[in-house]
Amino acid sequence: MLEVGGARILIDCGMFQGSRAIEQDNAEEFDFDPAVIDCVLLTHAHLDHCGRLPLLVARGFRGDIIATAATRDLTELILRDSAHLQEEDARYRAQRKSHDRREQPAIKPLYTNDDVDRTLELFRSTARYDHRMQVTRGVHATFLDAGHILGSACILLELEEDREKQRVLFSGDLGSNGRPIIRDPSRAPWADVVVMETTYGDRSHKALQPSVAELYAVIHDTFAHGGNVLIPTFALERAQELLYFLREGIAGGQLPRKMQVFLDSPMAISATEIFRRHPDCYDRETAALFAGERDPFGFDGLHLARLADDSRAINRIAGGAVIMAGSGMCTGGRIRHHLRQHLWRSDSSVVFVGFAAAGTLARRIIDGAETVRIHGEEIRVEANVHTIGGFSAHADQEELLAWHGQTGDPKRTFLVHGEHEVMQKFATRLTNTQVDLPARGESFEL
Ligand code: ZN
Repeated sequence: MLEVGGARILIDCGMFQGSRAIEQDNAEEFDFDPAVIDCVLLTHAHLDHCGRLPLLVARGFRGDIIATAATRDLTELILRDSAHLQEEDARYRAQRKSHDRREQPAIKPLYTNDDVDRTLELFRSTARYDHRMQVTRGVHATFLDAGHILGSACILLELEEDREKQRVLFSGDLGSNGRPIIRDPSRAPWADVVVMETTYGDRSHKALQPSVAELYAVIHDTFAHGGNVLIPTFALERAQELLYFLREGIAGGQLPRKMQVFLDSPMAISATEIFRRHPDCYDRETAALFAGERDPFGFDGLHLARLADDSRAINRIAGGAVIMAGSGMCTGGRIRHHLRQHLWRSDSSVVFVGFAAAGTLARRIIDGAETVRIHGEEIRVEANVHTIGGFSAHADQEELLAWHGQTGDPKRTFLVHGEHEVMQKFATRLTNTQVDLPARGESFEL
């Protein structure tokens, strides 16, 4: 939260994600009264950036939420899915508690779909990239392409208070250069104060092209042995990126022309439709494909499985197919059914292309578990397991440093959105700026 000249602005309002204990923090009171916030500037649609907006609204926020058009559309998808999960979780806990005879407080979901409706009504003005807009008295904002996911932005705020001016730059989540579909991150403008993410502040990514080649090789090998390839997939960005590379591989002759690909995820299918509606966010190659009336996310052998019946029908395909399904960490969703069908088959492969947190099913399989439990059944892991690391949507250490370098020599830099040790390591790489690692609830005078 930024306070300037009596105005209060929130940048993002995300959910805590991780273990049950961490997620309990989502229900806690905000450190401020939501009713006094004038507006929220939203950098992008990931749940850890937008996930508590409905709660903010339920607790009294009535101002504007400002985001790019693509972020608004993706946020609707993400928040509706989140509300659905909250409502299901509350029902499940209520059922378990009803066996307990003692008087219990009612179990309520964190928020509902109605709260999401009220939240979406507050997206009253739309931000355009590189367009300076006044958001409240004494505050101008410019949204810059962050190159992270469709619609994502860094936000430059120009503040004025008692004739004093300051430029404060929020990175949001920064993308990696050379990704398909969306543009590379915009050059950072100069700023007096920088608030930046540090997710991968301590490491370098593997290159993208070798990762794509590795994916193609796994598909060839697996098909040659008569099996299927499973790819646990995040619905946003990664699914569309994979469709893009599969289409490219087929068109370029690196993959079998008639191969069957199943996108078995209603959420990923909806997200792909939103991608199609926002060609203004594409990079030059993807825009050219679209202008040539070729669908960057579609090809002949692609099947979209929205209904549960479509999903079950995939079980009849013994080999020669790529099956993409959520969730990416295999904690829920349709991928678990496909894993049950395939993990015991030595002719099939499972390819992990995203981050897998400790304690998740994906992580256990990656770490080499001999057996795993799915839907109450113990299953031997005989399939070939591959982890392909080059598909990250986040900037790595080199890219973060380069981006910071573009801001000139800011007086102050605040590091956020990273594990503490990672932030400490990254801080040692910054020079000519005062670096702070703010704790939750801490305030600073700029
Ligand atoms: Zn993000």
